[in-house]
Amino acid sequence: MIDRPYGLLAELTYRCPLHCPYCSNPMNLADFGDELSLEEWTRVLAEARELGVLQLHLSGGEPLQRRDLADIVAEAHRLGFYTNLITSALSLTPEKAQQLKDSGLDNVQISIQAADADLSDRIAGTRAYDRKIAAARAVKALGFPLTLNYVLHRYNIDQVAQLLELAEDLGADRVELANTQYYGWALHNRAVLMPTRAQLERIEPVVRAAIDRLAGRMQVLYVFLGQPSAHSAAEWRRAAVPGRRPDPRCRHRKRAAPIARLDLGRLADVQPLSRSGLDAGAVSKLPAQNHRLRRLPLPGVPAHWRSRRHRPGVPSLATPRGGGRCH
Ligand code: SF4
Repeated sequence: MIDRPYGLLAELTYRCPLHCPYCSNPMNLADFGDELSLEEWTRVLAEARELGVLQLHLSGGEPLQRRDLADIVAEAHRLGFYTNLITSALSLTPEKAQQLKDSGLDNVQISIQAADADLSDRIAGTRAYDRKIAAARAVKALGFPLTLNYVLHRYNIDQVAQLLELAEDLGADRVELANTQYYGWALHNRAVLMPTRAQLERIEPVVRAAIDRLAGRMQVLYVFLGQPSAHSAAEWRRAAVPGRRPDPRCRHRKRAAPIARLDLGRLADVQPLSRSGLDAGAVSKLPAQNHRLRRLPLPGVPAHWRSRRHRPGVPSLATPRGGGRCH
């Protein structure tokens, strides 16, 4: 039993220069034009501290899109939060990182889409990989603890060994091998994103060996196939219902799919879906056909851009390597 919330995930903006096909931003972004002002965040942070919150995770969208990010960090630092910046790092220059450090930022988490620039930029929908790597090195040079976040799906999951090598090379202190959470854009694009059971089974020994080898140097987080969930059905219900206190340890607290109508009676009946159930039914009914890949809906990309080259110079995710196969 937890008597108070310990962490606050602050989604400062939905703006983001990337176009990941698994984005948890709302699909109906046009309905979310307003953002909380600095004054409003200042009030929210003060109230959170009064509730006993200790950790503040600054997220988005891309939090670096906020011009007042350093002010928000400074206020959080003044209030005594441990602050963590969750960023795609596209605009995290050494100067910006230094400014945030001077404001009191404690930790940086950078997401990288794949182990090589070509695939990473395809998934991100823009050229970003080189700047992410440069940002990670700048963050370490400034003495920040560094977390790398890899969202795993059918396109990059076979790169797990290379992703871990990259994390070692960058001196990461912590790596999250995060299974895609299928809601929002990821739910919409699940037919092309969901890994196969064979892929999941292939990476398991690789991840287990890395956890053993890197123990004490780099923390590797991954939820294995069939691993019992830490969440009871009651916790799932609690995490999904606004106005009820969420478990601050819950990793599934970030939801994005629009809720047109909240029916508490129906939510009370929600049961976790087993992985075996997914494999037996849902996945086989979701053929990832190439013609669908070419029209993959992406956040921030208008429908008429969904062609093979919707961004000059950036190969589309709709053109997978290896002769057009989707996995
Ligand atoms: S998932 Fe990708 S597109 Fe969505 S906010 Fe994060 S970096 Fe931006």
